[in-house]
Amino acid sequence: MPTLRFQALKETLRRNSIVIKETERRSALFGENVFNQTTMLQYLTKDAYDSVIDAIDNGSKISRSIADQIASSMKEWALSKGVTHYTHWFQPLTGATAEKHDAFFETLGNSGKGIEKFGGSQLVQQEPDASSFPSGGIRNTFEARGYTAWDPSSPAFIYETTLCIPTVFVAYTGEALDYKTPLLRALQAVDNAATAVAKYFDKNVKKVNAQLGWEQEFFLIDSALAISRPDIVMTGRTLLGHSSAKGQQLDDHYFGTIPARALNFMRDLEIECMQLGIPVKTRHNEVAPNQFEVAPIFEETNLAVDHNSLLMDVMGRVAVRHHLKVLLHEKPFAGVNGSGKHNNWSLETNTGINLLSPGKTPMSTLQFLTFFINTIKAINENEELMRAGSASASNDHRLGTNEAPPTIMSVFIGQQLNKVLKELEGVTDGKLSPQEKTDLKLNVIGKIPEILLDNTDRNRTSPFAFTGNKFEFRAVGSKANCANPMIILNTIVAKQLIDFKKEVDVLIDKKGLKKDEAIFNVLREYIKQSKNILFEGNGYSPEWQKEAKKRGLSNNKTTPEALSAKISEKNITLFEEMGVMNRTETEARYEIEIEEYIKRIQIEGRVLADVSRNHVIPTVIKYQNILINNVLGLKELYGKDFKEYSKEQIEIIEEISIHIGKINAKVSEMTEARKKVNKLSDLSKKATQYCNTIKPMFDEIRYSCDKLELIVDDELWPLTKYRELLFSR
Ligand code: ADP
Ligand code: MG
Repeated sequence: MPTLRFQALKETLRRNSIVIKETERRSALFGENVFNQTTMLQYLTKDAYDSVIDAIDNGSKISRSIADQIASSMKEWALSKGVTHYTHWFQPLTGATAEKHDAFFETLGNSGKGIEKFGGSQLVQQEPDASSFPSGGIRNTFEARGYTAWDPSSPAFIYETTLCIPTVFVAYTGEALDYKTPLLRALQAVDNAATAVAKYFDKNVKKVNAQLGWEQEFFLIDSALAISRPDIVMTGRTLLGHSSAKGQQLDDHYFGTIPARALNFMRDLEIECMQLGIPVKTRHNEVAPNQFEVAPIFEETNLAVDHNSLLMDVMGRVAVRHHLKVLLHEKPFAGVNGSGKHNNWSLETNTGINLLSPGKTPMSTLQFLTFFINTIKAINENEELMRAGSASASNDHRLGTNEAPPTIMSVFIGQQLNKVLKELEGVTDGKLSPQEKTDLKLNVIGKIPEILLDNTDRNRTSPFAFTGNKFEFRAVGSKANCANPMIILNTIVAKQLIDFKKEVDVLIDKKGLKKDEAIFNVLREYIKQSKNILFEGNGYSPEWQKEAKKRGLSNNKTTPEALSAKISEKNITLFEEMGVMNRTETEARYEIEIEEYIKRIQIEGRVLADVSRNHVIPTVIKYQNILINNVLGLKELYGKDFKEYSKEQIEIIEEISIHIGKINAKVSEMTEARKKVNKLSDLSKKATQYCNTIKPMFDEIRYSCDKLELIVDDELWPLTKYRELLFSR
């Protein structure tokens, strides 16, 4: 019986690419399975349509009778497309999406006949059994039930013959149990705050949308190979495996020709995305072998977050058709780059102006500077919270390892904009002379649009970089729900803009300054206060670690350290004040995240123990026996002189025994240590122990296993090797 590894390799060789032919234009497919505004116009009465638009634009409530009409139209539309079921689609704090399907079908009294039904009440609210979703103790202390409620701002869509209705998920007491609820609150907060500030520049601004464009990185490997690795199956990453002779050092994968199987997978994925209204636009090879990226056109943040969550699900399903497995883990393979999910963020007014893009007039450029500098200040004052927004057990393998941003938060804006800030720093305190105003307008503000046009300098080592008309948060992990960093970013910017407006208004009302003078004055102070966070150098360098420490920036290297910022008094108050999360919600979220961390490391520990004891040790003993027999044979042949002919074999026999001993001892030690740590009731202490005591043992166990992989007969080795995982196409 060949090992699973060889069966898998054989299977991989047999597999041809499923060729995806594109017969229709992408634009014709776009939104085909979405109950979007065009479809609504077709299916809804004018009243119902207006009501939905009002709910999207202004958050107004939809009345019960209108909800009935909408439900009925949605059902008609869905039935016309062969849909049988509906579901409330939500994002609990498990990181995955959740759905429970119900059929439209109902029996018609005792008539023996059936009918398709879907009313307003089913559209608006549902009560899934919530008891198995993480709640961080919210439901235990209050009420066991939770409910889902329709979010009209994200359109319903058809997926796998099911009508999916995006919803929030909350406890009966109103506390959020999902990602969407606090995200919507944070987006509301930043809308209110940014609109108030944007009105300084244009009275017609009624709404500001935060925009998000994510870039999803991932690995793609043959599904048979993936199944042959218990560590990939159970943890999403390889816990052992010696690096292959060739990795990414030749840089021959990045932006190279997309391999045929991967390309067909991507085509298939993109077609599904088009139908679902996910506006994917870019695809390319990433740095590591078998690593890729897909990115959409940016959208309003709530929609973009839904689309990314949906995409991660769709990817998995499409991959099955192609006998591939998508690895969304941040670090599936040691020694080659891991995967991230850059979050590109900007603010856009309902009048179509990007507030992070300088306009044609000095006033609109001052508007740009206002939002630009306020964002920098928000990051400066909340650097630790921003860092926490990217923390997870899996992302710990990536951040700070010279392939992704460090665990220190900083902002990169480029030389030219640094110069602009320097000039602004010199603005006179109080009223400005007419000459100074003219100078500023012509020589500083007036030049910004040109600067940005040819501002091509980019710093890939920065966690938060300004890239021309948006900020790019690069620390986010590939597996993460974008809502987490987006809740934080939009909340801190909202808070900052509120404070800014207060300060400007005081200067206008109490000091009699003109509006632009007041703005210049406040911005000048902000520039002075925010210098610590600006960094243009190499974020991967050891010098930056020292420099950042001098500046007093935090450097929380691991998830348990980083997450604690989420429950500092300062941040609990911040979320509460901005109406994003109350104390209970914030604390519950911390608890869920820290518990997830513990569980992930715990599972990895168990799997590593299994694989090293059940796969590695038995295999190397088999090989050792072959060697022993060989040595015994040589002894028979050569008698006393046998040692001359079996020196190497004996060395290998001994080396195997030494590594077996080490693995066994470490696994036992780890099991004992886990037992001890598991007794701790304080979650934060427990996580810290898992991080500092248990996790380092993985490296020692892995080291011996990987050494053995190099010694043992390739035919016997049961675990698919790195070169096979990374280079099979
Ligand atoms: P990169 O060179 O970093 O890959 P791209 O130009 O490919 O950057 O853009 C990456 C993402 O940024 C895309 O999703 C894109 O839609 C998004 N993006 C572009 N402009 C904006 C903006 N103003 N606000 C938010 N996201 C944006
Ligand atoms: Mg990109």
